[in-house]
Amino acid sequence: MNDIILLKLGELVLKGQNRRYFEQRLISNINRRIEAFGRFRIYSVQSTIYVEPLDDDCDMDETFEALKQVFGIASLSRAAACEKRAEAILETAKTYLKDELEGISSFKVETKRSDKSFPMTSIELSQYVGSGLHQAFPHLKPDMHEPELTVNVEVRDYAAYVHAGSVRGAGGLPVGTGGRAVSLLSGGIDSPVATYMMAKRGLKIIPVHFFSFPYTSELAKQKVLDIAAVLKNYCGDLTVEIVPFTRIQEEMRAKCPEEYFTIIMRRFMMRIAQKIADFNGCKAIVTGENLGQVASQTVEAMAVTEACCSLPVLRPLIGMDKDEIVVLARKIGTFDLSVLPYEDCCTVFTPRHPKTKPRLELVEAAEKALDIEALTREAIEGTTRVKV
Ligand code: ATP
Ligand code: MG
Repeated sequence: MNDIILLKLGELVLKGQNRRYFEQRLISNINRRIEAFGRFRIYSVQSTIYVEPLDDDCDMDETFEALKQVFGIASLSRAAACEKRAEAILETAKTYLKDELEGISSFKVETKRSDKSFPMTSIELSQYVGSGLHQAFPHLKPDMHEPELTVNVEVRDYAAYVHAGSVRGAGGLPVGTGGRAVSLLSGGIDSPVATYMMAKRGLKIIPVHFFSFPYTSELAKQKVLDIAAVLKNYCGDLTVEIVPFTRIQEEMRAKCPEEYFTIIMRRFMMRIAQKIADFNGCKAIVTGENLGQVASQTVEAMAVTEACCSLPVLRPLIGMDKDEIVVLARKIGTFDLSVLPYEDCCTVFTPRHPKTKPRLELVEAAEKALDIEALTREAIEGTTRVKV
């Protein structure tokens, strides 16, 4: 059987002149995502991408599941390819969809015909296949309005395809087509979701994690790497930058007023993220901040936080409720890891009475006690990179 996967492109079809570029990027992302499951030929014709196994031992189930996580794909179907003859199409439908057809009681056939030279109209072909299936599976009732199963026939340039409908893809745009960004990845619930959302809009992500050993343990770091391993399914290859943050926090605790701890830490994160972004050609900084969730997430605090970096700060969760974020975290599979009880670097240094409406000049005055440049440089020099 000529088992094949058909992928319908989403928004990128609309991208005019860039469309070729978007498609090529998507095909190379797909290639990398499924290479572990066998050898495939991947090509696009008429806004459909075909994923064709080259060997019998290609794992088509795993491949199909993996492709559901690739951004840029609107819908997917598993299909059987056959010759463009009505008899061959009917035979293929009988054998390829046998199990499905035996398990249901009503069906219809829907035909799309992009090859207009095919000798039957779409309706004629649907009727031919429908009555043939009815003969082969006499328990089946044709039902044009609410069939339990729709048998799809597509007659295209080089072959015909039979399948039982499509499932939704991950949507979005192919990772990489929007350039690169760093994403501040804690072990919490929010930042993995933010990372996912911006990868979905086509950004190639470099995750940055601030690590405060021994205030936070190796387990906390491992948790972040485990979260990154889940995100990799959507984001493609990830190399996490692990930035040592302890010195900065200890200096701050010794020399700055407690009420500014959170905002000062967050400003250091931004400065360091900006440097890492510059080294890596990244054009934005992504965070999991959310308006009003905690003291450092007021508009005033965000303004002070981002005043020390020049790249745009993208906060895709800004207007979401916590329960909406949790739904997404569960869907992408990071939630169970995020709620593991390892402390975060910020919680250890959380002030008892944080300033919710900090003023930039007062924060800057408080930071004067620190050698910002040396601390930032030291953190960058100590940064390690872990390929997930
Ligand atoms: P999260 O669930 O993502 O940890 P949060 O609600 O706990 O978010 P904060 O602790 O205020 O919020 O952090 C806000 C954002 O700052 C996070 O979403 C993340 O992008 C970034 N951040 C916080 N701590 C770290 C860290 N240790 N390493 C990297 N980024 C961090
Ligand atoms: Mg957090």
